[in-house]
Amino acid sequence: MTSNTAMLALAKTEPREGLWQTEVPVPQIGPDQVLVKVSKTGICGTDVHIWNWDEWAQRTVPIPMVVGHEYAGTIVDVGRSVDNLELGQRVSGEGHIVGHTSRAARAGRFHLDPETRGIGVNIPGAFAQYLALPAFNVIPLPDEVDDEIGAILDPLGNAVHTALSFDIVGEDVLITGAGPIGIMATIVARHIGARHIVITDVNQRRLDLAAQLCDVVPVNSATQDLRSEMARIGLREGFDVGFEMSGSAEAFRQMVDTLITGGRIAFLGLPSKPMLVDWSAIVLKSLVIKGVYGREMFETWYKMLAMLQSGLDVRGVITHRLPAAEFRKGFEAIKRGEASKIVLDWSDEGTRGFATEEAVQ
Ligand code: ZN
Repeated sequence: MTSNTAMLALAKTEPREGLWQTEVPVPQIGPDQVLVKVSKTGICGTDVHIWNWDEWAQRTVPIPMVVGHEYAGTIVDVGRSVDNLELGQRVSGEGHIVGHTSRAARAGRFHLDPETRGIGVNIPGAFAQYLALPAFNVIPLPDEVDDEIGAILDPLGNAVHTALSFDIVGEDVLITGAGPIGIMATIVARHIGARHIVITDVNQRRLDLAAQLCDVVPVNSATQDLRSEMARIGLREGFDVGFEMSGSAEAFRQMVDTLITGGRIAFLGLPSKPMLVDWSAIVLKSLVIKGVYGREMFETWYKMLAMLQSGLDVRGVITHRLPAAEFRKGFEAIKRGEASKIVLDWSDEGTRGFATEEAVQ
């Protein structure tokens, strides 16, 4: 189906709910870029926002836009200024394309660059057969990390960035939100050496998956009392560190309430609207709160790969593996709350079904 100049992709082509298969030109690479033949991609909550075409998506995503930012693949073309990467290398990559002129970027704090653009959000993304990527953003994959795990390093990086925000060795950790990133943060916290880890959510299926993958105490906030679960495991004073992964005001209130005095919170969840917070509780408890976004370039990537090479196992968070052509099934499963991480197969086999599916008008 695909000639040298055209490729299959999933794009937002119309300002309404959905994503549609489309044929677009294979990206041209610049001198500092590489071309990646995509093999596997992960579906992210961000992609679901774009699918739903909610307020954030309408404000943020220009149409048409090829979406997707979690990927792995193989380098098939290298720009003439790139001398550190080779044809045939298996890679993943940082999906945030940063500028190099801001104060943060000039200081080497690339993840804090305010000019950051997101692939699959502001610039063409990875739900496609090919992806053009600045060599700066490329992460070569070690042999221990296959393409399936390579495709979820972006959200695993969110989890690692959060989990490494504070020292949690020997500490008691509360994680609010058992989505894929919350579960991966739990596995990372266990790998690093936290003592008690409690994860809360209102979706029992997510909590069951967390408990199945990791030594963690799942608490359903809708039906269980967090305080009595804490008493049951002998946690008298409270949690030392909290990872907020839900963006829920109620979950955050409970976290503030159950942290020790001087506790620390790494806050990754994105509240969908402004959130009412009891600041006096935070002040009187002398809590430290750190906002966490993306991944540190490239310290998070370094640590994440090192942990994957030394036994960190997050594969269980992948609940669905689908041919790219069956992307609709994946989005529907996420929207029904039935899926954790979903990986799409973009190999020739995975994209074959596209040829017969009629484009949606
Ligand atoms: Zn993502």
